[in-house]
Amino acid sequence: MNPRYQILFEPVTIGPVTAPNRFYQVPHASGMTEANPRVRAAFRETKAEGGWGVVSTGAVSTHPSSDDSPLPFARLWDDNDIRSHAMTCDAIHKHGSLAAIELWHGGAAVMNRSSRLAPYSPSGVPWAATHVGFMGNQRPRIMDQKDIKDVIRWQVDAARRARSAGFDIVYIYAGMGYLGYEFLLEEYNHRSDEYGGSTENRVRFVAELLEATKEAVGDDCGVALRISLEELRAKPSDHFESQAHEVVNLLSDLPDLWDVKMDSSPTDCGASRFRAEGAHEPVIDFVKQVTDRPVVGVGRFTSPDTMVSQIKRGVLDLIGGARPGIADPFLPNKVREGREDEIRECIGCNICISSWHDGVPVRCTQNATAGEEWRKGWHPEKFDSPGSNDRILIVGGGPAGLEAALVAAKRGYRVAIADKASEMGGRLLFETRMPGLNAWSRVQDYRLYALQQMGNVDIYTDSELGVEEVFALEYQRVAIATGARWTRALYSSLEIPVGELNMPNVFTPDDLAAGTIPEGPVLVYDFDNYYLGGVIAEHLAALGIATSYATPAGHASAWTIMTNELPYVQQALHRHNVAINSEALLDSFDGEEVQLANIFTGALTSISARSVVIVGLRLPNTDLFDALSEREPEWKEAGIKSVDRIGDALAAGALVHATYSGHSYARELDCSGNELYLRDIPVAENPPGAVI
Ligand code: ADP
Ligand code: SF4
Repeated sequence: MNPRYQILFEPVTIGPVTAPNRFYQVPHASGMTEANPRVRAAFRETKAEGGWGVVSTGAVSTHPSSDDSPLPFARLWDDNDIRSHAMTCDAIHKHGSLAAIELWHGGAAVMNRSSRLAPYSPSGVPWAATHVGFMGNQRPRIMDQKDIKDVIRWQVDAARRARSAGFDIVYIYAGMGYLGYEFLLEEYNHRSDEYGGSTENRVRFVAELLEATKEAVGDDCGVALRISLEELRAKPSDHFESQAHEVVNLLSDLPDLWDVKMDSSPTDCGASRFRAEGAHEPVIDFVKQVTDRPVVGVGRFTSPDTMVSQIKRGVLDLIGGARPGIADPFLPNKVREGREDEIRECIGCNICISSWHDGVPVRCTQNATAGEEWRKGWHPEKFDSPGSNDRILIVGGGPAGLEAALVAAKRGYRVAIADKASEMGGRLLFETRMPGLNAWSRVQDYRLYALQQMGNVDIYTDSELGVEEVFALEYQRVAIATGARWTRALYSSLEIPVGELNMPNVFTPDDLAAGTIPEGPVLVYDFDNYYLGGVIAEHLAALGIATSYATPAGHASAWTIMTNELPYVQQALHRHNVAINSEALLDSFDGEEVQLANIFTGALTSISARSVVIVGLRLPNTDLFDALSEREPEWKEAGIKSVDRIGDALAAGALVHATYSGHSYARELDCSGNELYLRDIPVAENPPGAVI
C-alpha cells in the first residue's frame, strides 16, 4: 500500500462498536426487498469482501404506515422479517465488516399504496411531485401526540428486531423529505405544540427517536443519525450561522455517528454531467467542528487522494460510498494492496438509481456483476478458467466489445479485439466530448488500460474487418460488437417510429460524430428521450449555433427523470437559450422551416430551421453478422465454431446494456446449459396470514 493511504485503514469507534477502517458503504437503495433475500445478502456481502468496513442496507420501513410501493423497499415490520435481514448480516460479518441498517419512516413522502393507511406528517403538508410517476393522490394526515409516540415505538421495535438480526449500527433517518426531516423543516412543520415552532421544538421528534433507540439497543449497537442539511444550511438562524448549525448543535453528541447528506435525490446523488466529485462539502463541512462524534458523508469519491484530503482537512471521519462501491465493490482492497490503478471508477451516469425507479434490483454501467452475484454467480474479481483453447475474435471496440474482451481475457482465453476506428471506445469517442460527459470516458479507459496490461490480448485499431478477413483470421469464436446507427426515422401519434426524413440538412448524431457541423438555426428533434438529444442541443448552442429542441415527450430528455438529471437538463437548455418544444411531432421540413404538430391535438406551429438533427431510432449494425451468417456452411472449414452479436449490434440501448451484454457473452463462453439465472424466494418464517 502507498503509505499516504494508511490513514484510510484506521479503525473508527461508533458508540459500542468499531469500524475496522474508514470505508463506509452508506445506506443506498438496491431495489432488493424481502422478495429476494439471497440476492440482497450476496450484493452487500461483496462490498464487505471488497474491504468496506461498514456495509449498510437501503431504507428499511419500520411500519406499514411507511409503504413506498410499488417502489422497492425493505421491511422490518414484525419478527417474520428478521431472518431475511439476518442473512445479510451474516454475509457481511463473514468478512469482518460491520452491518448497518437504515430504519426509515417515509412520512408524507410515501403514498402507502399497498397498506392504504393515510400517510403521517407533522402538519398535513404533502410532497406534490411535478413529474408523473412520482406523483400521488393521497394527502397526509396530521400526526397527533399519540401518533408521535406510535412512530417512536415502531422505531424502537424495529431497532430491537435489527439487533436480533445481527446489525451493529442502527439508523434514525431525518433526511430526503422523510418524516424526521419534515419535523425539522419550517415548510413542513407548522405545529403549535412542543414539536413545532422554534428550532429546539422542531428537533424534539428526532431527539426522542434517538434517545428511545439508544435506550433500547444503544449498549450493543451504534446509533446513527442520517440527516439532510442542504435546506437547513440555507436558512438563517438567530444565534447560529444557519439552522443546520443550530440543529447539529442541539443534537451534538446524541447520535454515535452523523451521516450527513443533501436533501433530494438529484442533489444528493447528482449525475456527473452536472455535479462534481465532493459537491456536498460546502453544505456539510462544519459538522465535525460541532460534534465529537464521527461523521460520514458521500461525494462519489473514487480517488484515494481525495478521500485522504477529506479526512486530513477535518471534513469527514469515514468515507461514505454508495455508487463508488457499486461500480467497484473491491475499491478499498485495491487501495490497500497498492492497486489503485485497477479501480473501476463510477462514471456518475446514475443508471443504478434508475433501476430503483424502475423497481428492479440494481444494475450498473461499469460493473455488470452488480446485482448478479447470487442469481448468476458472477463475482466482480473472480472468473472461471477457460472451457476450451478456443481463440476469441471481437469485432468492434465499443463498450460491449471492450467488456467482452476483458472478461474473456481474465478467464484466460486468447483474445483479439479489432476496431476500424483509430481509437477504441466506439460511441463514447464522440459522446464523451459532449458537455458534461467527460467522466464517461472511464468506461473505455478502465477496460483499455486493463487489456493493455494482459499478455493474452491483441488490440488492433484502424482495422475494418469484413467477411474475408474474419475467415482468414481463423478464430474459433467471433463476437460481433459493431454497434448501432442512428436513423432519420420520424415519430407518429401512435408513439412509434415511422418513415424517414431523407433530405439535405437532416442529420443524425452519427453525422455529428463524423464531424458535420449543421448550419443554424438547428432544430434537435428528440424521441430517444434519454441524454443524447439534450446533450447535442447543449453542445450546438455552446458552439454559438442558434438551436431549438423539440420532443413528443412532456420534458426535454424525459427519461432522465430516472437518473436524477431531468431538472438540470431543462436548466442547461434554458441557460443556452435553447427553446424546448414539448408534445411535438416533426410534421414537415422545407429547408427553411419546420412544422411541428402537437401529438395530442395535431395543432401546427412553425419554427425556422436550416438543419434538423434527429435523435430518435437506433438500429443495430448487422452487415458483418448477416454476411457471416449467410456463409455458415463454410465456418467449419475455417475453424469457426460460433458467431454472436453483442451490445448495440444485438439490440441498441444505453451503455449499461452494452457492457452487460459483452460481460454475459464472455462469462458464458463454453458454459453448458441454458439457465438464465437462479430464482430467489422470500424467507418464510410463519404461514401466510400473520397479523401486523
Ligand atoms: P457498443 O455500445 O455495442 O459497444 P459502439 O457503437 O460503441 O457499440 O461500438 C461499435 C464499434 O464497432 C465502433 O467503434 C466501430 O468503429 C466498430 N466497428 C463497426 N464495424 C466494424 C468492422 N466491420 N470492423 C471493425 N470495427 C467495426
Ligand atoms: Fe456509477 Fe453509473 Fe454504476 Fe451508478 S450505474 S455506480 S452512477 S457507473
